[in-house]
Amino acid sequence: MPAILVVNCGSSSLKFAVFGLANGLNRQWWGAASGIGTEQGRLRVMEARGQVLANSDVRLADHAAAIAHLGEVLHQQGEGLHLVGIGHRVVHGGPDCDCSQRVDDALLRRLETLIPLAPLHLPHNLAGITAMRAHFPDVPQLACFDTVFHHGLPAVARHTGLPREYEAQGVRRYGFHGLSYEFIVENLVRRHGPAALYERLIVAHLGNGASLAAIRGGHSVETTMGFSALGGMPMGTRSGDLDPGILLYLAGQQGLDPQALQTLLYRRSGLLGLSGVSADMRELLARRNDIPEAAQAIDFFCHRARLFIGALSAALGGLDRLIFTGGIGANSPAIRAQICAGMGYLGITLEEGRNRTPGPVISADEGPVRVEAVATDEERMIARHVQRTLTNTQEVT
Ligand code: ADP
Repeated sequence: MPAILVVNCGSSSLKFAVFGLANGLNRQWWGAASGIGTEQGRLRVMEARGQVLANSDVRLADHAAAIAHLGEVLHQQGEGLHLVGIGHRVVHGGPDCDCSQRVDDALLRRLETLIPLAPLHLPHNLAGITAMRAHFPDVPQLACFDTVFHHGLPAVARHTGLPREYEAQGVRRYGFHGLSYEFIVENLVRRHGPAALYERLIVAHLGNGASLAAIRGGHSVETTMGFSALGGMPMGTRSGDLDPGILLYLAGQQGLDPQALQTLLYRRSGLLGLSGVSADMRELLARRNDIPEAAQAIDFFCHRARLFIGALSAALGGLDRLIFTGGIGANSPAIRAQICAGMGYLGITLEEGRNRTPGPVISADEGPVRVEAVATDEERMIARHVQRTLTNTQEVT
């Protein structure tokens, strides 16, 4: 069976999914290698219906070792499986990148030059691509970028307020979570037809990482995450937007160097930093009645989301549809209700009963803004890009 492998490499993890092409795109297997480069390596492979195919402790020295183990499991389990393409999730495509790109030496050299723009993510994405090319040298590979969806951001949304020469050096707003936004927009068109593209749409991608985007005509016109994956919404362990004066204070008065600031902003802030308990929203919700700081962290998260919905609807000149997605957005009626409370002034009114169902529609019929909860599927979006590229180049029909 022809199949597409999708991979997403983080610093110590590699998430993957395999999609069969026999009848549309069918997720056959998915899973993750975790603890890469540590003593606690683990490889977990699940079959589409939830059956565990492999779940073993295994030392994974690096991404190449993880890919070799994964290749072995797929070889054993996937009798007749024939990989026709591999898609990689890549955090940053740089200022000029407006589409997914075929992996070749030139692309890898270009992505190396972008590492300063995404030093925590891009090196691991590149390690995954390099290891995958070595393991599957004959399979075409595609890099799919989280920034591409926002490529057409209007100039006003790209500026940072720094002097112009910095923007020419790449210090500008880019936007992230683009594969999720793209999936949600395609899902909207599948459900409601292309006319839905002309609505004023906000998508709230609320997961461990979180951002919101204002979308018109299928394009991003404004988004909350700008230059790096730190900006905008507070997240599991990331701060979100900060008054830049705080950074000057921490560096100047408390002597924090770039490494210490990075650890503080990426790993110790957000829901974890404010609650002192957990970065995990489910856990905070479960403990908010007992631990006031857990409740305060949730309040802050919802307050910020409300502010951003207001700001993005101003960028759109109004609002027709609000879609919640990501682990929190798609699954938490409590957070959706808290964010939407008091937003009747914008036309946002949830219907309590519907908000407790899997959706998609969770707003009241009479409300002018249709509010929805929809699960995103970034892996499937990447697989679609691979399939479309292979079809266009007639490598798969
Ligand atoms: P990532 O950004 O790593 O892909 P996810 O989109 O999977 O993260 O989101 C993870 C977050 O979603 C966690 O904070 C988790 O607690 C939260 N979450 C998942 N299910 C629920 C739920 N039913 N209620 C509240 N939060 C949830």
